[in-house]
Amino acid sequence: MSTAESATVYGNFLSKELSFISDVDRQRHLSLFGIPLSTEAGIYPVTITVLTDTGEETTINFNVQIVSGGYGVTNIELPEGSDLSLIDTSTDEQELSMLGSLTSQITPEKYLTGPMGLPAAAPMNAVFGTRRSYNGGEVNRFHLGADFAGGPGSPILAAGPGRVVLVDWLSLRGLATVIDHGWGIYTIYAHQKETLVNVGDFVQAGQQIGTVGSSGRVTGPHLHWEVWIQGTPVDPMQFVQQDFP
Ligand SMILES: [Zn+2]
Repeated sequence: MSTAESATVYGNFLSKELSFISDVDRQRHLSLFGIPLSTEAGIYPVTITVLTDTGEETTINFNVQIVSGGYGVTNIELPEGSDLSLIDTSTDEQELSMLGSLTSQITPEKYLTGPMGLPAAAPMNAVFGTRRSYNGGEVNRFHLGADFAGGPGSPILAAGPGRVVLVDWLSLRGLATVIDHGWGIYTIYAHQKETLVNVGDFVQAGQQIGTVGSSGRVTGPHLHWEVWIQGTPVDPMQFVQQDFP
């Protein structure tokens, strides 16, 4: 949105603060917001407040319609002998909470200069958003990324330029890397066999950052790739197909 004079803009949507990134004149303002997968389709109010440097405050209210993503349901059978603590939802919650805090931090600079590239030269074999059960249990989780069927040891590529903010062994995602692309946009690369980067490295689009493996909660080797927007996982393929904004 644009304002006639320099202003600070803030707002609220889905019980969450809307964070705005403003240009140097603070007359053009942009907010990126990920809709959580658990959101029911419906009409939701947005509130935006503009506070100009001269002290004038204006509040704008409007509604946004959220439509169903039409995602499917699937059951995953973990191989016999798998560590069953991996299907305890508290393990999911701990990892999501850690990644949520990490990806809620907004770097004001935008490193992406166009759409993202694919993170592996391999066919995609599981899409984002599918609701999942494990070993025939309750359907209580979502597939938060897209899977690529790369063979073990094949290259994992940075989807865009950015700074590495995490390289660590996680319970579910196994050996994982998180890249900050600026403006609250992050990519996550999971189940790696090995990593080629360190926290603090700045990587270029298409640079190899690791290799495909089967670490963490998997049924076989593949790359699980996620995009998070200011603390919320969203469909990564949107970012391959178009540039935001
Ligand atoms: Zn996956």
